[in-house]
Amino acid sequence: MEKRPFAELGVSQEILKAVHKLGYEEASPIQTAVIPVVLKGRDVVGQSATGSGKTAAFAIPAIEIAKAQVHKVQVLILCPTRELAVQVAEETGKLLFFKKGLNVVPIYGGQSYDRQFRALAAGVQIVIGTPGRVMDHMERGTLKLDALRMVVLDEADRMLDMGFRDDIERILSAVPEQRQLLFFSATMPRAIKDLIGRYSRDPEWVRVESHAQNAPQVDQVYYEVDRRSKLEVITRLIDINDFRYGLIFCSTKVMVDELDQQLHARGYATDRLHGDLSQAQRTRVMEKFRKRAFEFLVATDVAARGLDVDDLEVVFNFDLPNDAEDYTHRIGRTARAGKSGKAVTFVSGRELYRLQSMVRFANLRIRRETVPSLGQVDEARANAFYEKIRGVIDSGQFETQDRVVDRLLDQGYSSTDICSALIQLLKGGAPAGPKTVVAAPKPVKEFEEMRPPAAEAAESEEAEQEGQEVPRPVGRTGKEEGMTTLFINAGRKNLVTTGEIVGKITGVTRLDSTVVGAIDIHQRHSLVDVASEHAELILRKLTGIRLRGHALKLSLATTEDRARD
Ligand code: ADP
Ligand code: MG
Repeated sequence: MEKRPFAELGVSQEILKAVHKLGYEEASPIQTAVIPVVLKGRDVVGQSATGSGKTAAFAIPAIEIAKAQVHKVQVLILCPTRELAVQVAEETGKLLFFKKGLNVVPIYGGQSYDRQFRALAAGVQIVIGTPGRVMDHMERGTLKLDALRMVVLDEADRMLDMGFRDDIERILSAVPEQRQLLFFSATMPRAIKDLIGRYSRDPEWVRVESHAQNAPQVDQVYYEVDRRSKLEVITRLIDINDFRYGLIFCSTKVMVDELDQQLHARGYATDRLHGDLSQAQRTRVMEKFRKRAFEFLVATDVAARGLDVDDLEVVFNFDLPNDAEDYTHRIGRTARAGKSGKAVTFVSGRELYRLQSMVRFANLRIRRETVPSLGQVDEARANAFYEKIRGVIDSGQFETQDRVVDRLLDQGYSSTDICSALIQLLKGGAPAGPKTVVAAPKPVKEFEEMRPPAAEAAESEEAEQEGQEVPRPVGRTGKEEGMTTLFINAGRKNLVTTGEIVGKITGVTRLDSTVVGAIDIHQRHSLVDVASEHAELILRKLTGIRLRGHALKLSLATTEDRARD
């Protein structure tokens, strides 16, 4: 579908200035199709993928029809969630920037009625809210709709999924007869068609094909992956592509929690989003993600709906979505506003047939790729490593180590040998790949931790433990009440430190570090006291996690374990 300059859509100078200020060069297809029709006074049903610019498609004509000199609510926009209401209000606020006397306010649950009441009483013309809160205000008489001229249902499908049907119907039956009604939805299930049939008058249907819009920018690939290998494969793909900002979809909340923890434990900066989190928690996570405070957000479809982020490098379908609509919805989150992005889908076993039927149904352009081998991953890691070293040299931001280097050179070692040995040391200490290497905050500490095992083992216990941490003489575990001692199959030989053990436990379980008590590190194993009530959880979560490239096994410590050297 075509795009046109905003100037050809019959909008005012004030709007043209606003879109220019926002940096929109031309109207998106859905905007091109919808804006002139709404300006003519028609009802519209608009269907297009996430990220296609629906907000401006309804906000611009809404602003144009609202009269600044009338201090009454003239446009009501319904959104499924508080985040969306706030986002739509923000975008509308920017678009009406040059319209003097026109105001917009979001109203949603969780914010005080008082504040919203004051905004409404001040004579705001455009109200954006969630159906529940809008109903509340109507019933209290604080939201009067007698001057209403337009109602917009944004993400109508989502609102019905969330159980707002009754509220929506009551709102629609309460508004004046003479009003325009706009429906926007990524999908068009029967329930929406019912509502349109009952409340819209001869609407113009505008549908922007989602695949036609997504396919050119989103590079879509799929991998046939055994269910148990998904975790390994996703980490390989992240490393090999050096992805740093992406969304990972799982089908259930349990999967989201699990994958979040597994990735976290492997050194990736992740967080999660699903329906069991409180509204406040979700808002916080989304906010952090928008600010790129972490790299990968693991989420369910429903939880990610309200999320508005740009510049995602990749969307992973760790689990295959239910249908083509969900697929399109998910991948629409990368490559927004014309940028290119990547969508990676995992299919295991019979899911391949489901994917094939989606491809046929939605005409997807998705190609099969083979899982990168460990060799390829190594090569990518080596390249990343090379880039990193070059970066440091080019920046000149390093201390010269003349003395050490000269001593080695004096003894006849070549510079190639010295560098190779150092690289070997660095690589050996960072089995998790370029992420760890790149993200490591203190390279000096890396070296410290990378002393060869033999040298380390030869040192006395106290000397070893005096480094960065409070010395903990061996034999302290099993003495405190309320604590359970766990056996871990990694010790000094594996270069394990007490700090790392605490870090892994808190990282994987998200428990506070106070649940960890005394730790005894032995040659080949360690004993750790943990709060008894969390012992089982810690045992379960840490088993299988890799520490310095070593897969951990945990068990309750037996008397024999305690006696071991
Ligand atoms: P949708 O509601 O269809 O999911 P949005 O309205 O949230 O999409 O728009 C997605 C992104 O595209 C937003 O960041 C928005 O600012 C941007 N955008 C909207 N219209 C345009 C345009 N004409 N040109 C460039 N970017 C646009
Ligand atoms: Mg939207």
